Amino acid sequence: VPERLAVGIDIGGTKIAGGVVDEDGRVVARARRATPSTDSTAVLDAIADLVEEFRDSYAVRAVGVGAAGYVDVTGSTVVFSPHLAWRNEPLRDAVVRRTRLPVLVDNDANAAGWAEWRFGAAQNQPDVVLVNLGTGIGGAMVLDGRLYRGHSGMAGEFGHQRVVDDGRPCECGNRGCWEQYASGHVLDRRARAAVEQATDTGRALVDLAGAADRVDGRVVAELASRGHAEAVEWIAEVGRWLGIGLANLAAALDPNIFVIGGGVSDNGELLLRPARTAFGDHLTGRGYRSEARIVAAHLGNDAGVVGAADLARLRARRRRPASPGYSVPGPAVARSGRRRRRPRPR
Ligand SMILES: [Zn+2]
Repeated sequence: VPERLAVGIDIGGTKIAGGVVDEDGRVVARARRATPSTDSTAVLDAIADLVEEFRDSYAVRAVGVGAAGYVDVTGSTVVFSPHLAWRNEPLRDAVVRRTRLPVLVDNDANAAGWAEWRFGAAQNQPDVVLVNLGTGIGGAMVLDGRLYRGHSGMAGEFGHQRVVDDGRPCECGNRGCWEQYASGHVLDRRARAAVEQATDTGRALVDLAGAADRVDGRVVAELASRGHAEAVEWIAEVGRWLGIGLANLAAALDPNIFVIGGGVSDNGELLLRPARTAFGDHLTGRGYRSEARIVAAHLGNDAGVVGAADLARLRARRRRPASPGYSVPGPAVARSGRRRRRPRPR
């Protein structure tokens, strides 16, 4: 049986990562390009170029593209992408024209969440919420084995739930958003302030980084891994806010597992232990429910590429059991396997 391979493309702010992914989620080839500023034609050229490079050596059946931003529910148009300046970009058709392959476009967090459910930390789990802690917070849900995309494809923007009334300002225009408290951005900010004020921790960070302008959240993580008390406390603070937001998500969605991905999750138990404690303290109905597990993602930086490729391959095949969840709305299948009863007029 020939392997069914698909290309996954993960468009980030600074680089476009590509990979050839097999049916078991293994990345069998990789390549990358710099993200060409904000020029959408140049981004398209880079995607087509990566696909061509892979096709020289591999029989590729489909292309999946994950991009930060809002993607419409049909998986064809990037409605809005902050760092690419895309507005209603018909990306799928453009990539189809260049590659003559089936193409699927999705939000990068959806791709990562799908990958963790299919091949990573949440395999065989019925109700999964992925929270990706990068500079902001992205999210995805696989509920009852389906990627839940919302009515307009914009579900999972957990980072903008308000956790503090009239709190820190957010780029989205609101105040007190979760991502202002529980993302890598917080560690960057704490680190910069410590360096500016030349505190003991600030000096330790500069020593470790080699230069003041190289200090960021990753250097805080490095310092914390060596047991530095204040660096450990900063990560714990992010962890506590993480747990509070997860308790809100549990109240709304009641998943059985949370998968924490993104760069900040590299802090492992330094982050997750305080998160679990805060989660338990804030969880509604505690003692009367099974508490969701909170675990680190398994696939690291590959998640976006693997998920985009797998979604595209499955959609090109149009087969269950692992439905990407893009099909037209129909009666939902209850967990028992029976169809839910349709409401009838009385
Ligand atoms: Zn916000």
